[in-house]
Amino acid sequence: MASKRDYYEVLGVGKDATADQIKSAYRKLAMKYHPDRNPGDKAAEEKFKEAAEAYDVLHDQEKRARYDQFGHQAFEGGAGGYGAGGMDMNDIFAAFGDLFGGRGGGGGFGGFGDFFGGGRAARPDPNAPMDGDDMSFQLEIDFEEALFGSERTIDLTVPGQCPECNGSGAAAGSKRVTCATCHGRGIVMGGGGFLRIQQTCPTCGGQGSTLEKPCRNCRGRGQVATPQHISLKIPAGIDNGSRLRVAGKGAGGIRGGANGDLYVLLRVNPSEIFERDGLDLGVDVPVSPIIAALGGKVDVPTPDGVAQLTIPAGTANGRIFRLRGKGVANLRGGTPGDLSARIVIEVPANLDRKQREALEAFQKLAKDSTFPQAQSLSNKLKIFYSHRDKLRK
Ligand SMILES: [Zn+2]
Ligand SMILES: [Zn+2]
Repeated sequence: MASKRDYYEVLGVGKDATADQIKSAYRKLAMKYHPDRNPGDKAAEEKFKEAAEAYDVLHDQEKRARYDQFGHQAFEGGAGGYGAGGMDMNDIFAAFGDLFGGRGGGGGFGGFGDFFGGGRAARPDPNAPMDGDDMSFQLEIDFEEALFGSERTIDLTVPGQCPECNGSGAAAGSKRVTCATCHGRGIVMGGGGFLRIQQTCPTCGGQGSTLEKPCRNCRGRGQVATPQHISLKIPAGIDNGSRLRVAGKGAGGIRGGANGDLYVLLRVNPSEIFERDGLDLGVDVPVSPIIAALGGKVDVPTPDGVAQLTIPAGTANGRIFRLRGKGVANLRGGTPGDLSARIVIEVPANLDRKQREALEAFQKLAKDSTFPQAQSLSNKLKIFYSHRDKLRK
């Protein structure tokens, strides 16, 4: 066994320290190395135990006198000594409950909240107000709703405070009783041997007490499914994947706690006309090959209505014309997006006899240069094949 450090050294006090100095030095160390503040830190746990052991001896006048005279030997083997494992965590919490300001049950782990100066309590108080959780809800909306805004009502069920027991979970006239599993400590020690891990008590969930008789309406949970009817304003310009926050419409708070918020995740259905990319829209505009060749006016769908676009003679298939400000309204009031109109030349179909004759007449009039792409390809092919023929000779 490693040699033990001097107890005065452990607490960082002189041999002539007063009881108050010893107590205050121990409080500081216990706070610093408390397992609740250093979860999973074995070194901190050892320091915590070491300090507890030193304090246990030095704050007791009789033990301190023996220690001053005989050192660590004073406690070896005999009663009141510590085995190889030192003090166990349960011993520490049980022994120093009142120093830590423990309430009820002879003190214990729960008091650390006070000991730490009003910080979080390690054991949840079953009577304290509890804030409701935030909830999320997915809402599918039409493309048009996202573009122009809309109003929706949402009906959903959220956990709300049980009206029968006002969130206490206890049946009328019944009270809470000390938890039989953890004896009110809210924690239990798990693991075995030297490695002991502190865990939240599974029976009481760390509250240290259980219900004598649970409320029938909520089965002791303090909350019941509560229908919620919400009016939601969807702002114009909102995009797929946006999240709207509806304050206070999440799970209800308990015993005066604040309600959680509701987050509505928007799924925008795609449009059959427009493609959307942020604030910009894209639209395919079918154009007659005659208009594309001659130039002229084409109708372009925009969110605000059909706009007329004049395209120049010889407009190629796939050419894009950008219509400034004809995209999606800007949610933040800035400039709206643009609309990209893509020319898609449409092959004439369902021809009648006269139309067919007109096209045949046109075809007779066509020259090589009437179709420059075909002409270019034909020229390249001539070179290609002549090259081939030379190689094959
Ligand atoms: Zn318990
Ligand atoms: Zn209830």
